[in-house]
Amino acid sequence: MPSPATTYVTEPYLPPLEEFIPYLQEIWDRKILTNNGPYHQELEARLQEHLGVAHISLFANGTIALVTALQALRITGEVITTPYSFVATAHSLMWNGIKPVFVDIDPTTLNLDPSKIEAAITPQTTAILPVHCYGHPCDVEAIQRIADNYGLKVIYDAAHAFGVCDEGGSIVRHGDMSVLSFHATKVFNTFEGGAIVSPDARTKKRIDHLKNFGFVDEVTVVAPGINGKMSEVNAAFGLLQLKHIPQALQRRAEIDALYRHHLQGIEGISATRSLAHQHNHAYFPILVGEGYPLSRDELYELLKRHGIYGRRYFHPPISSFPMYKALPSAEPHTLPSTYRASASVICLPMYPALEDETVKFIADIVRQPEAAP
Ligand SMILES: *Cc1c(COP(=O)(O)O)cnc(C)c1O
Repeated sequence: MPSPATTYVTEPYLPPLEEFIPYLQEIWDRKILTNNGPYHQELEARLQEHLGVAHISLFANGTIALVTALQALRITGEVITTPYSFVATAHSLMWNGIKPVFVDIDPTTLNLDPSKIEAAITPQTTAILPVHCYGHPCDVEAIQRIADNYGLKVIYDAAHAFGVCDEGGSIVRHGDMSVLSFHATKVFNTFEGGAIVSPDARTKKRIDHLKNFGFVDEVTVVAPGINGKMSEVNAAFGLLQLKHIPQALQRRAEIDALYRHHLQGIEGISATRSLAHQHNHAYFPILVGEGYPLSRDELYELLKRHGIYGRRYFHPPISSFPMYKALPSAEPHTLPSTYRASASVICLPMYPALEDETVKFIADIVRQPEAAP
């Protein structure tokens, strides 16, 4: 089979351009470009409905949302988090002068291992910052039990988890806050964007002040807030994107099933499986292990030679970066499952426009690497 055109790990989901023009016309007519404009308010309302939560604050991006969530809850001291994530998770702690404490992941779910959390708690610990990695739900009950026992807050980095549900509804309702990213590479995107799900109206109000320099009204500033506001163009795109989300998730589910079908029974290759009631198929990670004829990096390079640009998310672990590696909790021997996953993972291309034939082409290379030219 001939190689498909260059294929990246993801491709942003763009509805037809003509569907976006009326939104732009409206913005031009209204001349309201930002600062909690009509599209901004409408997107908050639509997302609250869509996710079944009462309070959402939109942000310019997910990282500023994470930084602000920690401030809104007045988190200080030490926070327990996962080293197996995108760097922004730990960076949000550093931006608040908080010390990250890395705890190893569960080798099957690749999420923070709840059984390892208690040993990492000190008198300085104030919160837990877990990630629903690849959209796979964390063990929210076990984490909440520990948080309740020790009086800790829980902030979920739910950047991968838009559209993920357990039996009770969207998983972003768990913890004291959940933070979403709407970056171009995510399941639901607003070019750049993010949001905080907060538990009550009072907390939402505080977050809305913090993302607008701390302004409460024209003359009152209550905190050294940041500029974290989402613009009307981004919010309008979100409204349009939201209409297409059900089809996008449907197509992702089909691609996931197709990968699993074509990759069945290959020695040394395993695909992680989600325990979600409803999953979003945000990523398609495979682990390259013992029994496979190539190393992970050899397979990664072989795919690249065929125009298939997977990504080694998350390699290297956050804890190995220069600003973290001197922390006692960053010692590699204390994080064996993190290092194992990080050394064996490849995220294969996954996005709604991916063709069935490309999925088969990719799986064929993985199945018969020696036959690939
Ligand atoms: C994308 C991502 C972020 C950051 O979100 P931005 O919107 O890009 O700032 C944070 N955490 C995780 C796990 C992510 O994947």
